[in-house]
Amino acid sequence: MDALKLREDFPILFQTVNDEPLVYLDNAATTQKPKQVLDVLKHYYELDNANVHRGVHTLAERATADYEAAREKVRHFINAKENAEVLFTRGTTTGLNWVARGLGEKIVKKGDRIVISQMEHHSNIVPWQELAHKVGAELVYIDLTVEGELDLVDAKKKITSHTKIVSIAHASNVMGVINPIEQLSALAHEVGAVMVVDGAQSAPHMALDVQALDADFYAFSGHKMCGPTGIGVLYGKRQWLEVMDPVEFGGEMIDFVYHDHSTWAELPYKFEAGTPNIAGGIALGAAIDYLEAIGMDEIHAYEQALVEYVLPKLLAIDGVTVYGPSDPEKHTGVIAFNIDGLHPHDLATALDMEGVAVRAGHHCAQPLLKYLAVQSTARASFYFYNTKEDADRLIEAIHATKEFFGHGFI
Ligand code: PMP
Repeated sequence: MDALKLREDFPILFQTVNDEPLVYLDNAATTQKPKQVLDVLKHYYELDNANVHRGVHTLAERATADYEAAREKVRHFINAKENAEVLFTRGTTTGLNWVARGLGEKIVKKGDRIVISQMEHHSNIVPWQELAHKVGAELVYIDLTVEGELDLVDAKKKITSHTKIVSIAHASNVMGVINPIEQLSALAHEVGAVMVVDGAQSAPHMALDVQALDADFYAFSGHKMCGPTGIGVLYGKRQWLEVMDPVEFGGEMIDFVYHDHSTWAELPYKFEAGTPNIAGGIALGAAIDYLEAIGMDEIHAYEQALVEYVLPKLLAIDGVTVYGPSDPEKHTGVIAFNIDGLHPHDLATALDMEGVAVRAGHHCAQPLLKYLAVQSTARASFYFYNTKEDADRLIEAIHATKEFFGHGFI
């Protein structure tokens, strides 16, 4: 994998910020888009734009064919059995809400359990909280080990026969830790629970096989994997999608509309009400082509090598705390850290002055930060177009910031 060559596909990376060459390390929030994806968006709007699934004219047929070809690309990318199991959404959040509403409200009853973990993003907490409140269920959190990994012993204790849904992130958006989804699926299925996976931070970074994971649902976002915003995917096993109700109603998702009731279209259309994000879907297909041409295993290995390179340098800085496992093998390219006596917002602002973009805050994971007993952290998140030079620039900028704020002199 030649990161320097791949960078050339990302025009946005070649700019200066505060008179310094940009180092973009906020990929967990959203990734940049290669020319190949931008070209597809432009091409679609310049030449093919039409509504899908209804017209018989040439443009409508072309747009529909391209949109459905993108669905097939997604299917292949995640190794789903059939295209009917691939639903286009607005993103991970929408997918998780659909499952909580459309299926959760049907199968979770008073006194039942919904099991999540202490490291979930708000998108994988709040929909379940709402469901638990509505039906009178219990929301239970699997604890973490001291290293910041999911505690499988605790998982075994908490996934009881009352559990109807287990919903866990495949990779943490804060600590970068990768969770053992296959083992969790097995635990969930032993008690007849549905296994839902938040794949927002994994789908962009590693090869996926939803069948091998035995996930019942798997949600992810296009914008975190070189695609546009406003498009995402919810994979669901046919057996559950047939039980699950749509949560949005209107055009495109119906079979027949009578005066007093309606019947639903076949899968996957029963869930996709209204005009979809056609350009977004087609461009997500282009993003998948782009990622697959590099190779998902190569991307994963490259990011782990970057973490292996930068973590010791970060840990060697006086006063630095890194959250999550120190073993790069257990990591995606996401690293959360703090520096004693320096507020992460001040740190992120100072790094920006050096052209280095990182995130600071609670990363939409307030319960996790409470669990870790911190208010906020800085977070550097790498992607395949980042280099060792970017990692060095981060380390140098942290040193410069520490000096500026008077650290290291006492
Ligand atoms: N889950 C995780 C782990 C995430 O990192 C994110 C995005 N920060 C989401 C869910 C929500 O994704 P989106 O905002 O694209 O719906």
